[in-house]
Amino acid sequence: MDAPELAEVERLLRERQEALTTRITGMAAAPERGSGIGFGKRIGDGTTEAVRRLTEVGVGGSLELSQARVARALEKLDEGTYGLCDRCGEPIAEARLKAAPESVLCIACARLGR
Ligand SMILES: [Zn+2]
Repeated sequence: MDAPELAEVERLLRERQEALTTRITGMAAAPERGSGIGFGKRIGDGTTEAVRRLTEVGVGGSLELSQARVARALEKLDEGTYGLCDRCGEPIAEARLKAAPESVLCIACARLGR
């Protein structure tokens, strides 16, 4: 990847990081109930509420994971190792980086999980 491409990647990643931060902090500050369209009716069903809350926790967790990946990708840009796999050091396929600029693992290592 040449310098203009890397600059574009950095811009994309910073944008994504900002969007994720907004969503994570926005979610943390969200009112408990009654603000959403369609939630106006009081169903009074504790189970529904619990499932909804669990789902939100799940979403929050994966948002935080995404944010951590984006932060790591930005770090790699700084280090000059962007585009190289964090686990095996092999280059990450360019198509993969284009589809997901926050990738810090090659396809083979990503399949193995962390
Ligand atoms: Zn790898």
